[in-house]
Amino acid sequence: MKVRILVTSAWPYLSVTPHLGNLVGSLLSADVFARFCRLRGEDVVMVSGSDEHGTPIEVEAIRLGVSPSELANTNHARLLELLEKWGIVFDNFTRTENPTHKQFVKEHLTKVYDNGYIFTQETEMLYCQECRRFLPDRFVEGKCPYCGYERARGDQCEACGRLLETTLLVDPHCAICGDKPVVRKTKHWYFDLPKFSDQITAYLEKNKRLPANARNFSLNFVKEGLKPRAVTRDISYGIPAPFPGAEGKTIYVWVEAVLGYVSATIEYFKDHENPEAWKDYWFDKKARTFYFIGKDNIPFHTIILPALLLASGYDYNLPWNVSATEWLQFKGEKASKSQKVGIWMHEALELFPADYWRYFLMATRPETKDSNFSWEIFTERINADLNDTFGNFVHRTLTFINTQFGGEIPAPQPLDADSQAILKSLEEKVETIAKQLENCEIQPAVATIISIARTGNQYLNEKEPWKLIKTDRAKAADIFNVATQYVKALAITSAPVIPFSAEVIWKTLNLPGSVHKQEWKEALKPLPGNHKIGKPKPLFHKIDANEKELEEKLQEARKRLAQAG
Ligand SMILES: [Zn+2]
Ligand SMILES: [Zn+2]
Repeated sequence: MKVRILVTSAWPYLSVTPHLGNLVGSLLSADVFARFCRLRGEDVVMVSGSDEHGTPIEVEAIRLGVSPSELANTNHARLLELLEKWGIVFDNFTRTENPTHKQFVKEHLTKVYDNGYIFTQETEMLYCQECRRFLPDRFVEGKCPYCGYERARGDQCEACGRLLETTLLVDPHCAICGDKPVVRKTKHWYFDLPKFSDQITAYLEKNKRLPANARNFSLNFVKEGLKPRAVTRDISYGIPAPFPGAEGKTIYVWVEAVLGYVSATIEYFKDHENPEAWKDYWFDKKARTFYFIGKDNIPFHTIILPALLLASGYDYNLPWNVSATEWLQFKGEKASKSQKVGIWMHEALELFPADYWRYFLMATRPETKDSNFSWEIFTERINADLNDTFGNFVHRTLTFINTQFGGEIPAPQPLDADSQAILKSLEEKVETIAKQLENCEIQPAVATIISIARTGNQYLNEKEPWKLIKTDRAKAADIFNVATQYVKALAITSAPVIPFSAEVIWKTLNLPGSVHKQEWKEALKPLPGNHKIGKPKPLFHKIDANEKELEEKLQEARKRLAQAG
């Protein structure tokens, strides 16, 4: 029986191109997980989209002197192109301007309002007299009242992860003109989050699948006392608030972005035979929803989204798992566009193929603690793991079969105890990888994949079939029969992580179809004897540039991309 699985990734802001730190926990992790679930034969739908409303894009558009929608169109098109180049495959990667989304958000919030969970309140907001506008969220920056971080945004402190209100900021300044704002009164509509404290606590306590970071953070968050959350904003680019008397207000971007998971599923099934099929993913209790996010997004997925779903009165499925990554740092620092710290999605591909980055990011995925990027660490992982272990094992095996066996997989003989043991170990590893991936433990799964190649290499080194072939050809043939089974297992198990290279292995093995259309259990099915394979080319190349040279290459690429616009 197939399991229905909805995989989602946090919606990237369209104001900037995502950097590797944005990518690692959300878009890329979701893709790896969804690819794995597809191989397992599950009924997978993967959705996300561009978050184009709200203050980040409006602030950026004002800075660039274009309209928010112009900027959003350009950036959305660019992001779609980048996702393809990175091999990140969504069933629906939409945007918050799509009519299905806007309609759904209005209807959902009207229902929440009718159910009595939305109230109005006069509030004090920061106002910039120079720009003549209210300054919600990212329109204002200042010092975090909790941790003292200097560049906290009006809605959240990037350093400590706490949610903020603009008026809480110490020494606030307008993000557009830098002026010191004044406090003014305005009216807003609020979601009565505290009413869901008990239900959310029960959900969090019951859901043992949540990783420790998401679970602990969320339980503490509820314990500190939930506060009502504003659902409206005084900005123009967004979804008009559907409440009586709320003319001129738009929906707070966080509310609509999390509801976008539902609307993107609805939109995806609109063109299908059964447009109502989206409900199978959101209401059928056997279906599972997985959310891939960075840790700054935890409360929105473990608390605010579940509460918004409960508030509708419909029996929505609450998140089955929320896989939240810690930070990926760059040479020990947090990525920052203004400080030019970090590497961005488009820049990375100018330097190395997507699989190199996908491998590095998943092999060092910050699951339980922060990880760090430096050229030294990157080079070490690519050279030692991907090239010397994985690539080398595949290449030497397939090359030997071409030179010694005329490109035909040696027919299987009754295998000796060593060879049987080595196949048994492969079976265990493939099973371990599946268990790890099911639990969203991608980083350990990648380590297990590499360990298959490592075992394969050790086996060849110990058996020395290149010597054996001169004295006992049948024995050498057995060893290569086993080694090719390792290669085939590597093609299947690595397909979610390095999809382009896995496809190359599959094609070189001369197997039908695409590796991505196979079933997971195919990993352990032996290749038929006398099966003819193709000639291998090296899958990867060793990086021999030093740190300084790599940094120079990055700067050159950055300049080139800036000139190309
Ligand atoms: Zn802080
Ligand atoms: Zn201003």
